[in-house]
Amino acid sequence: MNPCSNCGTQNSDTAAFCINCGSPLEKKTPSPTANTPAPQTNTAAQSASGRAIAALVLGLLSIIGSCGPVTGIAGIVLANQELKAIRNGMAPEAGKTLAQIGLWTGWIGTIACGLFWIAYIAIIVLAIGFNGFR
Ligand SMILES: [Zn+2]
Repeated sequence: MNPCSNCGTQNSDTAAFCINCGSPLEKKTPSPTANTPAPQTNTAAQSASGRAIAALVLGLLSIIGSCGPVTGIAGIVLANQELKAIRNGMAPEAGKTLAQIGLWTGWIGTIACGLFWIAYIAIIVLAIGFNGFR
């Protein structure tokens, strides 16, 4: 209903003039912001970007698939790009957790693999060293 600003009579929403006093009624304009939700914030809340998912997958692969630096470093790079994009509002916020997990798993996989190779090389060097003494 549309109340008249002059006499207070309730008029129909489509009425242009008051049925009681005849004064022009203010048209009720539906607010466009109330009805249409902001699409960008909605999609941002719902889905992570492909890069965030890729960072997560690469990070996990660097741990699960026993050797790390190739997928691990790629995961770290992607995760950093994604986190930067999220900070700048260029990527959906939903990807933040995925990217962070990708970042950490990428580091863990890379470091674990690095330690493995250091140990491996150390053993070889020691073995050659011991053989050299004999
Ligand atoms: Zn009126």
